[in-house]
Amino acid sequence: MTSEEKNFLFQELGFTDPSAMTSQNFCQGAAALLGVEASLLDSFECDLSLKKILPSELAIRCQAVPLVREENQICVALVDPFDIQSLELLRFFLDEPIVQIVAPPERVKELLNNYCGSNSNSFTPVADHVEQLLEHAMMTQASDLHLDPSEHDWTVRYRIDGVFQESLSFSKSVGLAIASRLKLMAHLNIAEQRRAQDGRLEYHSHNALKTSSAHFRLATLPTQFGESLVLRLLDRHTTSLHFAELPFSPKMREALLKILEEPHGLFIVTGPTGSGKTTTLYSCLQYLHNESIKIITVEDPVEYELDGVLQIPINEAIGLSFGRALRSLLRHDPDIIMIGETRDATTARMALQASLTGHRVMTTLHTSDAVGAIVRILEMGGEATTLATTLRGVLAQRLLRTICPSCRIAYHPDEKLLAKLGFDPTLNNLHFYRGSGCEDCDQTGYAGRHPIFELFLVTDEIQSFIHQKTSHLLLREKAMKQGMIPLRTEALRLLCEGVTTPEEVLQWT
Ligand SMILES: [Zn+2]
Repeated sequence: MTSEEKNFLFQELGFTDPSAMTSQNFCQGAAALLGVEASLLDSFECDLSLKKILPSELAIRCQAVPLVREENQICVALVDPFDIQSLELLRFFLDEPIVQIVAPPERVKELLNNYCGSNSNSFTPVADHVEQLLEHAMMTQASDLHLDPSEHDWTVRYRIDGVFQESLSFSKSVGLAIASRLKLMAHLNIAEQRRAQDGRLEYHSHNALKTSSAHFRLATLPTQFGESLVLRLLDRHTTSLHFAELPFSPKMREALLKILEEPHGLFIVTGPTGSGKTTTLYSCLQYLHNESIKIITVEDPVEYELDGVLQIPINEAIGLSFGRALRSLLRHDPDIIMIGETRDATTARMALQASLTGHRVMTTLHTSDAVGAIVRILEMGGEATTLATTLRGVLAQRLLRTICPSCRIAYHPDEKLLAKLGFDPTLNNLHFYRGSGCEDCDQTGYAGRHPIFELFLVTDEIQSFIHQKTSHLLLREKAMKQGMIPLRTEALRLLCEGVTTPEEVLQWT
């Protein structure tokens, strides 16, 4: 309830000037409105044994303090008595009926401080576990953290630079408590365990060396043994969304800018999960954004918040699909539409339609190379004529792990490896690099990742090939003749420059 609405209701109750109300007036008024009792709680002291039922973290999150427990009911007071959401959350979390008492907000705050103690001392062991997990994720720059229940315990794994690197396990009860706490921190419904949920949480690091904070996205998924949780680190500080900072070659940058500045048409970024497609698209949007341009995105989920851009989160569970969101957003007549991912025929057709009717449309697809995007759109029922007319270009990308600079060593590759990479096996003056493993890189030999790109440009000639539904192979050949540099070539360049290893080249290209 807004303060204006409250004032209005208080006036209805006969208070002539709600702003001049005493705390006694406020309590009486609010209690009357809510149909509950009021108390000033003057000489009241908290019952700390109630922490077993209502832990400090929940009390802080809901800004509520339990007063007494009698006849299997718990009386609680909220700092904001009109905070219905917190009251609902308490009802979900506590097994017993709740009776609300209205008390002066300053007094409830005071009691809440007494109840929880000074913040730093109120951490329970579960909070410690959660803190350590999040702290470690931030320190190692993990991209995500997976918590999976099995029959007897819980496993925790970190994904660092695209690879699962280590695992921990917890007993069933500790795992469950960690999951509940994470859900609470992400403002999810704790009682709901049978339906997938999605939320965000912000964590302030207590690391003594430096203070920092990080945002995580939390997704839950019901499984046979309970809820599985995935935390993705949304690090807004290390992820650069500046187009100028993406390592394109000058020629590729020029071609891309030409595509982005076209008044309408379709631009696609392809690659496997975690290859940085979304980051690239966000950088493009950031580059294009200005006051006179209306940008709308539909995403599942929204990974970064962009200033001045209307971002619509997709939620299939409640029937808000890409198709449906697209239909309604077209009514808002945006200049640029970004579709997080084109997964089905409806979305593909709508993306084509929108780009045909004067919009700039950008999207991502899961295909192994740039030309694959054309084949995929046609497979999804996209019309070849429309695709040929609207498609401006496709960018394929990968992220290759880079060698840790602190432990980088050179070596001579053997004939077998050279052959695998497509080099002449008799070459004997080549050397590659690898990381031998050190403290800086947690003994992995790698630190960070480097993107590589392959840009497919739709020229007049290519347009007619798309129109004729030319095969993948032939289309690729034509594109290379027109100057497309394939991902593998780019990867080999990074290999020869000593940026990455042959293993990475072979895994990703
Ligand atoms: Zn190292």
